[in-house]
Amino acid sequence: MSVRVRFAPSPTGYLHIGGARTALYCYLIAKAKGGQFVLRIEDTDQERSKPEYETAMIDDIHWCGLDYHEGPDKPGDVGPYRQSERMELYKELAWKLVDEGHAYPCFLSSEQLEELTEKANTEKIAPHAYHGQFRDYDLAEAKKRIDKGEEFVIRFKNPNKKYTFKDLVRGEVTFPEDMVGDFVILRSNGMPVYNFCCVVDDWKMKMTHVIRAEEHLNNTVRQLMIYEALGAPTPEFAHCSLLVGEDRQKLSKRHGATSVSQYRDQNYLPQALMNYLCLLGWSHPEEKDIFKVDEIVEMFDLNRFIKSPALYDIAKLNFFNGQHLRLLTGDELLSYCERSIPTDHSFHGQEKEWKIRALEFFKEKVNLPSELDEHFEVLFNTEPRLNEADTEELKDILSWETTPVIQSYLKEELTKLKESGVEYPSEENFSEWTNHIKKELKVKGKPLFKGMRAALTKMTQGPDLKIVIPLTKIDLLITRFQ
Ligand code: GLU
Repeated sequence: MSVRVRFAPSPTGYLHIGGARTALYCYLIAKAKGGQFVLRIEDTDQERSKPEYETAMIDDIHWCGLDYHEGPDKPGDVGPYRQSERMELYKELAWKLVDEGHAYPCFLSSEQLEELTEKANTEKIAPHAYHGQFRDYDLAEAKKRIDKGEEFVIRFKNPNKKYTFKDLVRGEVTFPEDMVGDFVILRSNGMPVYNFCCVVDDWKMKMTHVIRAEEHLNNTVRQLMIYEALGAPTPEFAHCSLLVGEDRQKLSKRHGATSVSQYRDQNYLPQALMNYLCLLGWSHPEEKDIFKVDEIVEMFDLNRFIKSPALYDIAKLNFFNGQHLRLLTGDELLSYCERSIPTDHSFHGQEKEWKIRALEFFKEKVNLPSELDEHFEVLFNTEPRLNEADTEELKDILSWETTPVIQSYLKEELTKLKESGVEYPSEENFSEWTNHIKKELKVKGKPLFKGMRAALTKMTQGPDLKIVIPLTKIDLLITRFQ
């Protein structure tokens, strides 16, 4: 049977980092097994679901590079792919379960339910113990009440037995017989509930694997009951470990950016985000940590899921971004970084070849393009900003008796170059100056290197001058001597 894996988000917000990780695993499993990856939109929560969230989620899924074979905007044979468009099917099957004795209409009002909950609380038993008041009620009688317009829900008749299944992450999981009561599958407003729709769809859409977050583990017991009642085969389940923040609590907004769109807005590389997320719950067989998703398809093995909660650490993600940034070609690097540089920055006025050369050099020093700005000061600012200690040190270097000698020599050389129409010094120019200062001016060691840096950049430390000076306009270098 061909493998089919679905990602089934509810469009009640933006795509969460945890959701993106689930989508990634679904994509990888489908791809590793030569199967199909399907997107299903679970929008039965009419109040919280919004079409704009669906659009944003789809955009983010594509940005992550997780293209699916079937979905609301890519119809296949088992659609529609939006639950709100499948209501008739759910109702029909809910009534089929009623007619076959697996479910029943229940007329408990909300006041009665409250009373029963109170009673259960005083007796220190689970409230669901009292939810089965109508399980043996005469069905013909119930249908008459419904025809008369009485409000009702449809409850599933819990078979009251133990359920066991083998989870691909957690191993064998057993649910005790009294874990849930007779639960609602169709609400009084006619809306089916998640557990019911999910099973109907996974069955009708021929899903072979259900990969989702650990928080859905307890839903699985209800779902197993429904599969059994419908006579449907159960798929394989994998409940992926929780993502937690530093305080070991479930990842939430207070831990920082948690939606994919925030990382997209901050110009992270999708391949870096996917790489990092992939390792939060799965391990590479050769312990490789930097890879592109499509490089691991062949080795993506369901046995390598990690059970324990995974710590989501933005500093680590930044590191991954830096690693992937360094893998980009010159052209890719330019189009990626350019977006993060303010439009009025002098960087944009440079030639393409210069830009790539500068980025190839500075990429080693940053994880994100937004960090480039501070490194560019040496190329564009007459007086790069310095902290207090460096300002003091600069003053000191400028007061050494060798420094003015270096300064006046360099100023003369730069002026000559300018007059000959050159815009930037070359690496050879820089080597000649260094040799001249050493041999002719007899300045060596620290006074030479610190003195040259102070004279040419007005800084006390920083990037390799041999690279940086050929990237700096002679005009700007000359202004540093005034
Ligand atoms: N709509 C559910 C969610 O977004 C899907 C759970 C599942 O994959 O079964 O959490």
